[in-house]
Order: sequence, then C-alpha cells, then structure tokens
Amino acid sequence: MKKQLDIYSMEMNESTGKIDVQFSKGQKIYSYNKFSLDFIDNNTQEKLELYSFLLNETTGNIDLKFSKDGDIISYSKSSISIFKNGSTNTESKNNFGNTNDSNNIIQNLSSNENIPVYTYEKKCYRCKKQTPIFTYCLFESGDSLLFPWDKNRLFKEQSLELLKYHMQDSTIEFYPINLLGDIKHLDKKMMNLFSTVKNEYSNTRKEVYCMNVCQHCGAKQGEYFVYRDMNEFISHMTELEIECYI
Ligand SMILES: [Zn+2]
Repeated sequence: MKKQLDIYSMEMNESTGKIDVQFSKGQKIYSYNKFSLDFIDNNTQEKLELYSFLLNETTGNIDLKFSKDGDIISYSKSSISIFKNGSTNTESKNNFGNTNDSNNIIQNLSSNENIPVYTYEKKCYRCKKQTPIFTYCLFESGDSLLFPWDKNRLFKEQSLELLKYHMQDSTIEFYPINLLGDIKHLDKKMMNLFSTVKNEYSNTRKEVYCMNVCQHCGAKQGEYFVYRDMNEFISHMTELEIECYI
C-alpha cells in the first residue's frame, strides 16, 4: 500500500538522508527516512532516485539533485508525486516497524533519535585554534529547534525575566532554549558520542555540568558562550550543520 502525501514544505538533508516534511504551514515537522518515500515523475511515471530535494515554499518549485555533484534541477510541485511506502518496503519496515497509523506518519521517530546535534567551529579563547562545538537545541517544551529557526515561537515563549536580561544587554536575544548542559539524559548521549564533550566544573555555575572542551588544549568552552553563539545564529537565521541525531 502506498499513500500519496500532500506536502507543504520538504527538505532532504544530504548527509543524513533524513527528509523533513511539513504538511501545512506552521505545523509540526516530521522526519522521514529517505527510503520510506518514493518520488514519481508524473510525466514518465518513473521513480526518481534523488540525492537531495528542496521544496521551495514561496515558488512551489522543487529543486532536486540526482547526485552529489549534479546540477540542481527545478520541477514544478505538480509534476512530481510523493508516496509514502507501505510495509512492502523492508527498509522502511525495519526502521519504522508499525506503519498502521492513520497518516502513515512516522511518529515514533520524533521520540527516538530525532534530535539534531548542531555543530560549528569556534576559536578557543585560550589556544586560539578552531575547535568544534556540539550542542542540541530545544524549545523549553523539548521540541527540537529546526532551521529555519522559529523566532516567532521563541519570542512568544520568552519569559519576562529573559526579556529583562535582553533589555539590559541587547547584544543577545536571550531566547528560551535548552542547550548542552541543560538536559541530563541528552548530555549523557552527547558524552558517549563526542570525546570533546565532558562533565566539567563550572566556576560560573558552581557545579559540574556537561560542556564542550577545546580539542587542542582542553579549555572549557562554557555554556554561556555557546548560548550566546546560538542566540546569534538564530537571530541572524544562520543555518547550522547537523552532525548527527540523538
Ligand atoms: Zn584551546
């Protein structure tokens, strides 16, 4: 059984092969595994083997590539049908098990290994070399913040206290976000994945918490600086690289 999907926006992450899908504006984003969707060219009825895929919300065009170094080809939205695979596809079966839910939407992905770990390079304050920073980035409810960053929601959820901080220091927005060091069970996963993510004592917080350390000299890249960077990335709509999902 295949189910045709009516999609509002869609983006395929080239490195992870995950596809983020939104069915209508402002609604929840669902993640699909690349193998669980079929793209059919309506003219030829042929299945397209895609490398990357981006549905442009404003133009309604679909930009796609067939290989990593291939050209970007634009299709109109109506010329491609997108189907969700049924249980005949072993790959989607293995990954998602039960496909019986009404929309054939992979709900269980949202609670399991669907939190992106963002990464960027930062100059270490001590040795002045570039070192990678890794962090998850969540709304206070626990939903992942995904690009394009939903600044409206962040403003709506911003407490008076954070707003006051922003008034005092307007160089930082003080978005209500949770990053590495804020959520224990996620910190644990991060420490297992990255050798430069460790529990260290913080003089500012006066407690041990999970943070990035410089890969060259081991200097602590404390939460405050990562929080500041993330505020800036969100504020400037800077897209961040996703290292993996946890
Ligand atoms: Zn360093």
